[in-house]
Amino acid sequence: ATPTAVMVGTGVGASQGVLIKGGQALENAHKVNCVVFDKTGTLTIGKPLVVNTKLLTNMVLREFYDLVAAAEVNSEHPVAKAIVEYAKKLRDEERPTWPEAKEFLSIAGHGVKASVGNKEIIVGNKSLLADHNVAVPVDAEEILAEAEAMAQTGILVSIDRQVAGVIAVSDPPKPSSQEVISILKSMNIRSIMVTGDNWGTANSIAKEVGIETVIAEAKPEQKAERVKDLQASGYRVAMVGDGINDSPALVAADVGMAIGAGTDIAIEAADIVLMKSNLEDVIIAIDLSRKTFYRIR
Ligand code: ADP
Ligand code: MG
Repeated sequence: ATPTAVMVGTGVGASQGVLIKGGQALENAHKVNCVVFDKTGTLTIGKPLVVNTKLLTNMVLREFYDLVAAAEVNSEHPVAKAIVEYAKKLRDEERPTWPEAKEFLSIAGHGVKASVGNKEIIVGNKSLLADHNVAVPVDAEEILAEAEAMAQTGILVSIDRQVAGVIAVSDPPKPSSQEVISILKSMNIRSIMVTGDNWGTANSIAKEVGIETVIAEAKPEQKAERVKDLQASGYRVAMVGDGINDSPALVAADVGMAIGAGTDIAIEAADIVLMKSNLEDVIIAIDLSRKTFYRIR
């Protein structure tokens, strides 16, 4: 393609809300034969809702949620937002304030940790608790399994290194996800899901959207490793994601595509930004590149 064609292609993209950062990104997109999708916020709506809480402590629900929200209010993660929203509803005040959290730590792809009052709060997945030597009791395991079977994610809450409750959150697929996967298939482009979420929930969502290959419980670096593995086996890979946890993979991919509604770090790491946050725009971007690089040579 001529420099003019690339400029036109980039301009057409911009007018449709597909921000292409430079000619190389536009060129690489037409070679893509495999798209790796993040799950939460990318294939799913990304606004999870708390649907169930099981307490394994004597605390009342509001007391429990005050501690959890105090920690999670510092996190950008959609799960954190869902938990804070739910905690707000348990309070009467219009503008609830939580106890102040100290020593807040966000562990990408795992959860959060903070001190609230004299208590240590850890909120996240099984591996986060394992990393802190918190044993998950059998009844908590059962609650997790039940949630996963319903395509929900069970979030574990540890208070002073004891599992104090499990919060079930639900985050259904975007209405367009299934169709986008099916169109990509018709373009001979393979779709893969890579997620930090657990295998049970990931498989349930993958089935709903028509993705056959799933990689779950992947840490941010592992997401990038999977992208590199695919490249090593000959694939030209586009990575689509929205989170901090996706940025290493967005950088590793031949084309990194960030959801516009995603975090700034993902947007910076990406080659293409889907400003309207529509998954259909993955196809628009590839199509635009194909048109630009097949038409004029
Ligand atoms: P995804 O790849 O699906 O976007 P992440 O890698 O961001 O998911 O997170 C993986 C898992 O880690 C989540 O499914 C959740 O169980 C847990 N997690 C991450 N961040 C948080 C948080 N702030 N609070 C609670 N759990 C979290
Ligand atoms: Mg995500």
